[in-house]
Amino acid sequence: MAVKKVKKEFAVTVAEKRCKGCGICIELCPKKVLELAYPQMKCRVVRIQDCIGCLMCELHCPDFAILCKPKEITPAAPDEKPAARGKGA
Ligand code: SF4
Ligand code: SF4
Repeated sequence: MAVKKVKKEFAVTVAEKRCKGCGICIELCPKKVLELAYPQMKCRVVRIQDCIGCLMCELHCPDFAILCKPKEITPAAPDEKPAARGKGA
């Protein structure tokens, strides 16, 4: 049986009130997920699909303003049958 790889997805949130726009998270993010928004000078998430959940942003933010969490993946119920099957199924 073939094993299907599932790409893990992450949710990154920035608490704007805490963010002072220092840019540390933006510099450290290896996937360029974050940018500085002008003129607000706050970090914002621009490429969430590229996030690998490394937590560099969360662990290095001096103001605890950014959080990264894995998204919940709901697996199909074991007794759930595929919607479309071939003839005779
Ligand atoms: S490291 Fe924290 S305070 Fe600095 S820009 Fe990123 S979220 Fe904002
Ligand atoms: S968890 Fe890693 S990849 Fe995702 S936004 Fe933060 S630094 Fe970038």
